Amino acid sequence: MSLLSVRELSVAFPSARGVVRAVTDVSLTVGPGETVALVGESGCGKSSLGKAIMRLAPIAAGTVSIEGTDITTLGPRALRPFRPRVQMIFQDPYSSLNPRHTVGEIIGQPLAVAGRPRAEIRERVAAVMARVGLAADAAARYPHEFSGGQRQRVGIARALVLNPKVVICDEPVSALDVSVRAQVINLLRDLQQDFGVSYLFISHDLSVVEHVADRVLVMYLGRVVESGPAAEIFASPAHPYTRALIEAAPVANPRLARTRSRTILGGELPSPLKPPAGCAFHARCPFAQAVCRERAPRLEPGASGRAVACHFPLLPPIGAAALADRLDA
Ligand code: SF4
Repeated sequence: MSLLSVRELSVAFPSARGVVRAVTDVSLTVGPGETVALVGESGCGKSSLGKAIMRLAPIAAGTVSIEGTDITTLGPRALRPFRPRVQMIFQDPYSSLNPRHTVGEIIGQPLAVAGRPRAEIRERVAAVMARVGLAADAAARYPHEFSGGQRQRVGIARALVLNPKVVICDEPVSALDVSVRAQVINLLRDLQQDFGVSYLFISHDLSVVEHVADRVLVMYLGRVVESGPAAEIFASPAHPYTRALIEAAPVANPRLARTRSRTILGGELPSPLKPPAGCAFHARCPFAQAVCRERAPRLEPGASGRAVACHFPLLPPIGAAALADRLDA
């Protein structure tokens, strides 16, 4: 059984200019010990999806289940026993920490809300702080006294103190200096082993995702356009958007660099208030044909757990010459 299961989930926000359809019909599962990555440009809906799973964003349709129980419509009281099982690490480790509380209070807050005795809270806070690499005396200090990397360790400790099954990591290293990103990524990997936790890892940075993910879902304008095992997707992306994202990553995939010409990701993400007709990616896609402007491709399952939503997927992997032929066609 999946720890987390999302079925045909849609998220919509009312706005002054109409309804923003941030997420449409997204399904995913996260199993024990897995890291599932949600990737895409800023504004593609991945953070809205993470918040909807936490019940922090309005769910317009679909379901979220935790260990087989549908929590989509549970009220605050009925939701309470499920809260500890899924926790979240936020992008900005400063704004997500209350500056008026000590680090010890911040990390212990989920235990206090759960009504645990003070002695137990002290003990568990000390244990998780040691595990994430924070010195014991940090408990009495305030967030502003720490560096960005240390503050993110506080956020990680707060997420883990309840021994969750799944942690949603929302761009957990993108606000950090490059020099500390690898440390935090390695820490998250070590903690996954220690705590047996699963991650839903939200990131726009594919060079980070390549290091951590078992499976990947690529989102564009609120929909999944490609999904599958991370190693396969990085070795041979099937959707033109996936391929452009991989090639735009700071450390380009060397295999793609050797075998394929470069796809430039031009233009901007369209507005979710006015999604384009047909394939939402058609205005930016070098392979777009007439049918792409008229008919939206469905997410079609393929071999070895992969799925792609494209009328002309880049599978099987094609070389630079064949790619040039397609571009000329
Ligand atoms: Fe490009 Fe057409 Fe595929 Fe959309 S459906 S990604 S426009 S080839």
